[in-house]
Amino acid sequence: MIVVGAGPAGSTTARELAAAGVRVLLLEGERLPRYKACGGGVPLRTARMLPFPLGTVAEAEVRELELSLLGRHRFVRNAGRPFALMVMRDRFDALLAEHAQRAGAVLREAAFVRSIEFEPARIRVRADGFQADASFLVGADGARSLTARAANLGVGLAECAAWEVELRPRANVHTHRAAIELGYCPWGYAWAFPKAGRISAGIVLPLEQARALKSAARRFLERLGLGAAEVERARGHKLRFRRGREPIADERVLLVGDAAGLADEFTQEGIAYAVASGRLAAKALLAALSGQGDARTYERLVDEELMPELRAARRIARIFYGGLRRAPLPWFGAARFLPPLWSSFFAVQRGESTYARETARLEPLAAAMERLLR
Ligand SMILES: Cc1cc2nc3c(=O)[nH]c(=O)nc-3n(C[C@H](O)[C@H](O)[C@H](O)COP(=O)(O)OP(=O)(O)OC[C@H]3O[C@@H](n4cnc5c(N)ncnc54)[C@H](O)[C@@H]3O)c2cc1C
Repeated sequence: MIVVGAGPAGSTTARELAAAGVRVLLLEGERLPRYKACGGGVPLRTARMLPFPLGTVAEAEVRELELSLLGRHRFVRNAGRPFALMVMRDRFDALLAEHAQRAGAVLREAAFVRSIEFEPARIRVRADGFQADASFLVGADGARSLTARAANLGVGLAECAAWEVELRPRANVHTHRAAIELGYCPWGYAWAFPKAGRISAGIVLPLEQARALKSAARRFLERLGLGAAEVERARGHKLRFRRGREPIADERVLLVGDAAGLADEFTQEGIAYAVASGRLAAKALLAALSGQGDARTYERLVDEELMPELRAARRIARIFYGGLRRAPLPWFGAARFLPPLWSSFFAVQRGESTYARETARLEPLAAAMERLLR
């Protein structure tokens, strides 16, 4: 079994398969720990899906969310207890890869996969410096997945653009609070997430606005009083979204995490779905190895277990960003004064509920908001 990419999706797939006794080769294009453009917000629901503690890589624990509308009408909601950990992805991903190795997976770093050939009896993967064959292949190679292109999977996924800046501010970092700025049109948001002595800030916008990312991020940082902070690194990256039944598996190949567009359109989070899809991939492949079905079973599992949640997140995104676009101030004000929305959001972040369950619970409210937007 070959897994391409040692991000959270690939390392989770590799760990689960290796723990079940499968021989797994995990190919990573870079040397770990490697930088990944990411806010590094890890909701507790994600942490709960991993069978080891994240204490060694958690840089902050967040229990407060500060919201503003392009820097104005700022307010803070306190969740009472933590709802997310903040990590730097280099250390977080290295930890996940280490656990995959401990389970028995063989990790090969600086092994960037250049080509994949599908032959009747095997799949041949050529990476920098060597080649390997496998019966099944897992594409965990992120939003620019070569595996997806080679296997003609992931066709038709939606995309958006994001920009990430790692900062060393002069003042102390408020380690319990994450800041979110809304008011971007037609949708999007900027974030500032606390880390140990650092802040990870960024912005996500529709793909057509990719050129505006850097200037919008600069204005956001100035509004936060971080315009003069030392910038350690800045990088752009795409996010992909699976909205319907876009193909993410065939008999021998399957895509996990960002390669499959498994990120949510409300918060643009993807680590939770990377881990969840890695687990489903391992489950489907273990069944296939024991003669029950093939890799396509995975697509069915994703449709049943992850897509309802991603569809609910998309519905929330449409209501939320659509409302802000139509009537920013009243809408923002309403969000501020509706406590059930906040308890729902924090419950989902902690893994005590799901978007699907919360939208069903708040259905009259969601339907009324949708009617208002028609
Ligand atoms: C700016 C930004 C901020 C974000 N913030 C958050 C956040 O705060 N919280 C959250 O949950 N999600 C966030 N996301 C989404 C999150 O980063 C992704 O959903 C997550 O990283 C997906 O994990 P993955 O394992 O699928 O892919 P990745 O993390 O992208 O890992 C893919 C791996 O494959 C390797 N690779 C790629 N091509 C090859 C190749 N050809 N050969 C070998 N190796 C290869 C890469 O080096 C990489 O290590 C953010 C995304 C962006 C762009």
